[in-house]
Amino acid sequence: RTVYVNGDYVPENEAKVSVFDRGFLFADGVYEVTSVLDGKLVDFAGHCGRLRRSLSELSMNFSVSDDELLAIHRELVSRNGLEEGLVYLQVTRGAADRDFVFPPDDTPATLVLFTQEKSLIDSALAQRGQKIFTVGDHRWSRCDIKTVQLLYPSLAKMEARAKGGDDAWLVRDGLVTEGSSNNAYIVLADGSIVTRDISNFILHGITRKAVLACARKLQMKVVERAFTVEEARHAVEAFSTSASGFVSPVISIDGHEIGDGKPGPVARKLRDVYIEEMRKASI
Ligand code: PMP
Repeated sequence: RTVYVNGDYVPENEAKVSVFDRGFLFADGVYEVTSVLDGKLVDFAGHCGRLRRSLSELSMNFSVSDDELLAIHRELVSRNGLEEGLVYLQVTRGAADRDFVFPPDDTPATLVLFTQEKSLIDSALAQRGQKIFTVGDHRWSRCDIKTVQLLYPSLAKMEARAKGGDDAWLVRDGLVTEGSSNNAYIVLADGSIVTRDISNFILHGITRKAVLACARKLQMKVVERAFTVEEARHAVEAFSTSASGFVSPVISIDGHEIGDGKPGPVARKLRDVYIEEMRKASI
């Protein structure tokens, strides 16, 4: 694989960052994951917009323009012959002597990008449906910033895996916030789709925004509000969304079957329509 590090395209085994990088020492970095379909980027503008917001919330200096970022994404996709998969981008506050105080403003940020081949459309998990276990949401309260502090979500997912599940949904004050790396939804008996409203407690998913737009276009009722685990267990359907998972049906929560225990029609419809829309708009 060819990866990108601070201006250079290099073979992955020659790529290097400093041991003093603040991403490594302080998790002082932000990231984005953009999916690739037919060799083209899905919702690149959305990911770029959220990256700028994450950088700004953390007062991180970063001089690479959106056009340059697009060019780097495309160059990597092309050099790696990527047809379907992901482009991962990470920006950190750069390398400096270890100190809680930020380094001087002229410290160059570290920019790293790499590609990952992945079958996104034909997903075994989306076909079967996910088994979810709920766990406490012990993350910090700025989940709206896409930082590389991913240890807790990783622990949460491992806990769900240990119980025989596929993923974890996180619960704060009795209310579901989101999945370990995706936004969470339930469908009620009246057909309405319920997902947590936007706040500092969830990541403002790029897929969430696009999927809700699809749902509204299909005349489905969307309600953005918090829901309890109990409400989720009794929902007629459930699903999650993310750039890499698109719309991914949920078939059980904490061992309780959702609906008839198979991927539901709302999730399947939204998955198909989302993929169709994104294919048209990819660049
Ligand atoms: N929530 C969390 C905590 C995530 O990590 C992700 C994916 N990075 C999402 C939601 C989904 O966001 P997106 O649709 O932009 O991939």
